[in-house]
Amino acid sequence: MIFTVAIDGPAAAGKGTISREVAARFGFAHLDTGLIYRATGRRVLAGEAPLAAAQALLPEDLRADGLRTPEVAQAASRVAAIPEVRAALVDFQRRFARRKGGAVLDGRDIGTVICPEAEVKLFVTASDAVRAERRWLEERAAGHDTPLEDVLAELRARDARDAARATAPMVAAPDALVLDTSAMTVPEAVAAAVAQIEQRLPAE
Ligand code: C5P
Repeated sequence: MIFTVAIDGPAAAGKGTISREVAARFGFAHLDTGLIYRATGRRVLAGEAPLAAAQALLPEDLRADGLRTPEVAQAASRVAAIPEVRAALVDFQRRFARRKGGAVLDGRDIGTVICPEAEVKLFVTASDAVRAERRWLEERAAGHDTPLEDVLAELRARDARDAARATAPMVAAPDALVLDTSAMTVPEAVAAAVAQIEQRLPAE
């Protein structure tokens, strides 16, 4: 079975949590496409040119330590605005999306550019304040003591760049279900995603 679930939306809206839970529940493979841009950004911070960095990516780059820092997130968002970098990363993501057995991809342009034919499209969002607080709690649990205002400013800067870029901007596909998780618990958000998928799964 070929079945793609595309989950897009801004930083810290809950895409990753929903994607992981949905993938486990339906036995689909999951690709966090942000990691591809983060790994490219990390190589650029280490001195490589952006396009060369994207072309040289290896599977182990996506498992490297240190991909979750705010510096790498900003570097990711800068390289992600370069059309040639995005073009170099398309084929890998498309193959993943249409692999046999089902796939969940989360990112910014999955339902619009990478897999417009996805069977299910969600655009997961939440208010800036809620997203900043969630990210701040995650960072605190990981031992980083960044002030909440700095976390909020980092998210806003990244969202603004991601939404304003000319190539593959962050935007909900016209046929995506918009899920605002500001006032939802994780189980509620997951249940909403599961319901969409169940509606569209082919009958056995
Ligand atoms: O999702 P995450 O916060 O890890 O993504 C890091 C950055 O990578 C985003 O801010 C965005 O600039 C870029 N990105 C993208 N397209 C995707 C996934 C991530 O441009 N499909």
